[in-house]
Amino acid sequence: MISFNEAQSLLFQHPYQAEILHVSLLEAKGMILAEDIINNRAAPPFNRIAMDGISIAFAELEILKTAGLFVEKSTYAGDVQTEQISGTCIKVMTGGVVPKGADTVIRIEDIDINGKTAFLKEGASVKIGQNIHKMGSDCALDELLLREGTLIKSQQLAVLATLGYHEVKVRSKPKVGIVSTGDELVPVNATPQPHQIRQSNPYFLAGICQEYGLDYQMIHLPDEPSALSSGLKSLAKQVDVLLISGGVSMGERDYVAQTLHQLGVQQHFHRVAQRPGKPLYFGSSTEIAVFGFPGNPISVSATATSYFIPWLRKSGICEELRLEAVLSKDIQFKAALTYLLPVSVSNVGGVYNAIPVDFNGSGDVLSLSAIDGFLELQADNWEFPKGTTHNYYPVK
Ligand code: AMP
Ligand code: MG
Repeated sequence: MISFNEAQSLLFQHPYQAEILHVSLLEAKGMILAEDIINNRAAPPFNRIAMDGISIAFAELEILKTAGLFVEKSTYAGDVQTEQISGTCIKVMTGGVVPKGADTVIRIEDIDINGKTAFLKEGASVKIGQNIHKMGSDCALDELLLREGTLIKSQQLAVLATLGYHEVKVRSKPKVGIVSTGDELVPVNATPQPHQIRQSNPYFLAGICQEYGLDYQMIHLPDEPSALSSGLKSLAKQVDVLLISGGVSMGERDYVAQTLHQLGVQQHFHRVAQRPGKPLYFGSSTEIAVFGFPGNPISVSATATSYFIPWLRKSGICEELRLEAVLSKDIQFKAALTYLLPVSVSNVGGVYNAIPVDFNGSGDVLSLSAIDGFLELQADNWEFPKGTTHNYYPVK
């Protein structure tokens, strides 16, 4: 049986191969940028009025204080640059171009206007160049603004819009097929018989897909080889990755691995030295990657969080960071397995503090109500003291 680290590195050798898509700016939110974005225009592109007020030549400040300056005209945002005649001032509005000949803007609150003459109010202080947003002072031409691989959020949309990117290159995201298996499962809106349960795993997996903006479809397949085979085969034609829950363990009706083999999917691993989620399966073909999650809901949540999300990161379609958290309690775990410990987490001064969640084994689906994520307690140890730092995989 391979270790958690070996399994993760095998997984990373088979990332999703993204294509480059050209999408309109409003479709780009939540996508990953597939090009570097270089500033293509000085910012701001002209000396910009930053306050409503008057423009003056600083050399004429004394006149403004004593005899006053004649208000020659007004200039507005959107007007072409105007010229200021010496001995006068111009009323200027935020967003306009500083008139030629002016070098200082005094806000309207600091000015008294008497007829057509402006005076500086008593006590107002004026510095040369004030209230002018200097051309090019924000960002020089050719500066790298957004790196390829950046997640496009609202702030990136504003930057791209400023630079004229009505269309932008982004990486495609994998289409996901979510498959639940298990003859004991009924839909969420059904009333289960005493021997049945409602299916929860597809909703957990759909939640992760939604988090990363992945298109997904959900199907349920029975524990029966031919129906499983035809269901998987037709879904595999429509998606890039399959997330299958259940049917990968040692039970007599666990047909998933053999069915995938018959469909030409190459198995990269099946069974990992970890708890929960030992029967985890991963395989791929040229068209598709396949995760087979052991059906117990805590196994699905632990392995989807510590394998599928890192795989998305490795595939370059999400920006997730590798996180660490500090164990808040001594833990002993004697099996020679990586322990994916369910934890609740609080952020204390920028450090994640992980508190183990009591759970009643990997079938305890309702313990998910208290779980924020999983701490990776490595297999080569069995004592994990309070205060030690471990890899942390947050549930999304
Ligand atoms: P399996 O991996 O198919 O042997 O399933 C292991 C356990 O997980 C069984 O008790 C199943 O009932 C349960 N299980 C499997 N799939 C789901 C699901 N979609 N929702 C909730 N429980 C499930
Ligand atoms: Mg099953």
